[in-house]
Amino acid sequence: MLALIWGLHILLLNNSYEQMKIREVDEIASTLHSSYIRNDEHLTETIQELSITNDLYVLMESGGSLLLFNPEQESVVPVYRYQSQIPKLREALQAAQGKASVHFKFTTSFEKYNTLAYGRMLSAVPHQEVYLYIFSPLYPVESTVNILKTQLFTVTIVTLILAFAMAGFFSTRIARPIKSMTATARRMGKGDYNVKFEGGGYSEINNLALSLNTAAYELGMADVRQKDLVANVSHDLKTPLTMIRSYAEMIRDLSGDIPEKRNAHLQVIIDETMRMSQLVGDMTSISAMNTKKIVLEKESFDICAVAASILASYEVLQEQEGYNFVFNHPKECIVYADKKRIEQVISNLTGNAIKYCGEDKTVIVNIKRAGQYCLVEVTDYGPGIKADDLPHIWDRYYKTSTNYVRPTSGSGLGLSIVKELLTLHRVNYGVDSKVGKGSTFWFELDVARKQLPSRQKTQHTQKDAPSGQPESTSSSDK
Ligand code: ADP
Repeated sequence: MLALIWGLHILLLNNSYEQMKIREVDEIASTLHSSYIRNDEHLTETIQELSITNDLYVLMESGGSLLLFNPEQESVVPVYRYQSQIPKLREALQAAQGKASVHFKFTTSFEKYNTLAYGRMLSAVPHQEVYLYIFSPLYPVESTVNILKTQLFTVTIVTLILAFAMAGFFSTRIARPIKSMTATARRMGKGDYNVKFEGGGYSEINNLALSLNTAAYELGMADVRQKDLVANVSHDLKTPLTMIRSYAEMIRDLSGDIPEKRNAHLQVIIDETMRMSQLVGDMTSISAMNTKKIVLEKESFDICAVAASILASYEVLQEQEGYNFVFNHPKECIVYADKKRIEQVISNLTGNAIKYCGEDKTVIVNIKRAGQYCLVEVTDYGPGIKADDLPHIWDRYYKTSTNYVRPTSGSGLGLSIVKELLTLHRVNYGVDSKVGKGSTFWFELDVARKQLPSRQKTQHTQKDAPSGQPESTSSSDK
């Protein structure tokens, strides 16, 4: 900007001053020309006024005689100084052919500065030509330029000092917190997630620090989770692998030829592999949730039909091990959710109820319509959960220390999967449990606004009951 100002003011000032003067004289000549054409009776006064206010010297030549219009200036600028230029102007005008005006600069021996000579033809009638001549002194701009130079020099110095000071101030203000954050980020890169990014002064850096602190916290948590995962998985895999190996050895060395014993030992191996595949399945779900790969595919479906089919898959337990499944539900309850994920939720909760129902062996599934929601409850009358444990049971790999007899062992991931899926659905869920009395796990689902397509309705197999009214059935009824 400074260079531009210097260039415009100092280098081009003279040039632009001259250009400006030529434009000004040209405009005045045009005004006089139109007054002359109009035969304006005030032409003389206009010329005098314009020439005085603009410091011009105006002459008119008509039929070979010269008219001087500003006699006041005669004393200041004697006419003969310029008279020698008149023939040149006239010739130039005659040679210009059609060009409205001509101009050039000249210097007289009386003045040190240039004068602008301007000529214009007012009437081109042959032998009655009328010419307008204007002379305007081009005063030297050097003194003005010198004043400007001094002023500009001061302005330049002050501006540069201010600019450097401000640039220094702002860059330090911006750079210092960024430098410290870079150092912190390096520490974080080396695995230290307990770092704290310090902001500094202004909101963008503070926001960045906040985001980086959140990222550091998340990375720290992910690191802890990853370590937990490795520890838990290796621990969980060790037991079944040991069992499988020991029982396989037993079959090879002892029971291979005794069918009953061999079958019993093979059953242990089968159970343990099933446990391992459940663990791997749970881990796959958790890993998908970790990487946020789960996208809900919501649809309208009958939650009662879904729960009924899950309970039906446990019929074998009812027949062989004396479990009692009670299912209370309305005729239908159409919800809007991701069917597969909700199946997984009900399956995990029912599986837990079966695992932890103890000697009572009763599992109750209630489905109720409550306004806009459909409430699903899974109840058992097992040993319940201690109040201290309640907040933690949703955490990954959390298992209460008490060991109960269970048909299958858990991975400690089931409830955390339930929590993740229900959180993704943005619905309410929870547990009510009392030690010695049992537990009720519950969650709500949004009731679908649209009606279920007829194809899905026909799949519904429950007994008729008025819609919205709970109906009690035990699975043995079906
Ligand atoms: P697990 O595979 O060990 O069952 P979960 O995440 O499903 O893992 O459950 C976490 C813990 O919560 C269980 O280890 C158990 O102690 C407790 N829990 C879950 N459901 C019940 C229930 N219905 N009754 C009593 N305790 C339960």
